[in-house]
Amino acid sequence: PTVILWFRKDLRLDDNQALHAAIGSGGDIVPVYIREPQALNVGPLGGAQDWWLHHSLSALKTSLRSVSSDLVLLSGQAVDVLARLAKETGADTVFINRAYERDVVDREIVAQLKAQGIRLIAFHGKLLHEPGRIRTGSGGSFKVFTPFWNAIQKLGEPHEPVDAPANVPAPEHLPRSEDLESWALLPSKPDWASDFSKLWTPGEQGAKDKLEAFIGRDLQDYKRGRDLPAVDATSTLSAHLAHGEISPARVWHATRNLPRSSAEEVSHFRRELAWRDFCYSLLEELPRLDEVNWDRKFDAMQWHYDPAEFNAWTRGQTGYPIVDAGMRQLWRYGFMHNRVRMITASFLIKDLMIDWRKGEKWFRDTLVDADPANNAGNWQWVAGSGADASPFFRVFNPVLQGEKFDAEGDYVREHVPELARLDSKYIHRPFDAPPQVLAKAGIELGKTYPKPIIDHGFARDRALAAYRALRGGG
Ligand code: FAD
Repeated sequence: PTVILWFRKDLRLDDNQALHAAIGSGGDIVPVYIREPQALNVGPLGGAQDWWLHHSLSALKTSLRSVSSDLVLLSGQAVDVLARLAKETGADTVFINRAYERDVVDREIVAQLKAQGIRLIAFHGKLLHEPGRIRTGSGGSFKVFTPFWNAIQKLGEPHEPVDAPANVPAPEHLPRSEDLESWALLPSKPDWASDFSKLWTPGEQGAKDKLEAFIGRDLQDYKRGRDLPAVDATSTLSAHLAHGEISPARVWHATRNLPRSSAEEVSHFRRELAWRDFCYSLLEELPRLDEVNWDRKFDAMQWHYDPAEFNAWTRGQTGYPIVDAGMRQLWRYGFMHNRVRMITASFLIKDLMIDWRKGEKWFRDTLVDADPANNAGNWQWVAGSGADASPFFRVFNPVLQGEKFDAEGDYVREHVPELARLDSKYIHRPFDAPPQVLAKAGIELGKTYPKPIIDHGFARDRALAAYRALRGGG
């Protein structure tokens, strides 16, 4: 018999339970990726991820060819494409790995395929544990991270990963594939992704290399360094995880045999991985996590949208160096350090009083790791509207945050070159620097680098008043 293996956001051969089961079925396998009008996401894929997807599919095609198979690329509505493919190949079973972004749609697909005599069998592998396994004493889902994390630790280790197969049985003739180039996923003019490849190698091999480098350092300095944007202390695996090029179980188990001295770092890192599971459990509960305030009290929030301010934020021209450095890192590399994500998001929401959904969308379009659960979950966390949210009275001061986490200003100097020669004392507050200090550094405020677009003290009071009003109203 022939079976279909439908790749989605699980673009890997390693620890791929659906692939493993398809091989176990004894059938010839037709591996397919379907480009759908609505990708497996909360909206169309962003530009940065289109870039990633192009390279990732190309890598997956190459790996499938190296195990005597190939990847068939097709576009259209998944149900139609699968039904056509089943007819053409004589397949009656489709193997997939479970996804939680469109749980409802998946259920519909199952029903529609079933009506046409096609079975769809789904497997686990996207998360450390299936969300359904992590339940409170009363059987509900967790709304707060710490008890969720405690429950994960009680569950024991995630499944033992299965290795990539040496051979993937293919029918004599695989169906015709569309040409990847014809999907035009890469930017043309201007090529805003020209620096992406300096940091990223999409695909399984790229993921393995990043994991090995990270483990090779024994996760050294992870706990402290993960808060310092100028230090490369984190795994940078997020985009690989978002596309399923590596399984979280594989990542978890890779930290198993590290020296005792790394125990604390390992535990901290695994905890971060579990945040990803937590965000997915929230998404399962609230599929429109990107649109709907988890805390409906926030529906009454009086946002204040000024397009010029939003624009300044997206371009890294707010006049607050740490915010600008982050937004420019994001544009240039499709990535931003976690600490700075929190600072830039807080600035948009609390200093500019712009609806968090605008920021979520911008990140979704520009991050290579944009993930429906992690992005929306974290934006809601910063906004205070989330399930487990940061306290409403927390308004990050961008100057103090900069001075605390980028004390020498190395991160700012890298991403905001016009400030590179500024004395460290003023690197996070150029607007306080005496004229001769600015002149010496070749800076003309308002010309070579913007003055702050808003006074933080004013903004802070305004935000607190709005948040208080909301609390009082609820
Ligand atoms: P590491 O520190 O090495 O962590 C390992 C893995 O754990 C990450 O790859 C990621 O999968 C997971 N992880 C770490 N922190 C978090 C977290 N806070 N929430 C959920 N998972 C986490 N992460 C995304 O993957 N996609 C997003 O779209 C995304 N949007 C964000 C938006 C905002 C406003 C904020 C504050 C955070 C967002 N994050 C997002 C979480 C976090 O910033 C990134 O996962 C992290 O910076 C990726 O770097 P890393 O792989 O080196 O992380």
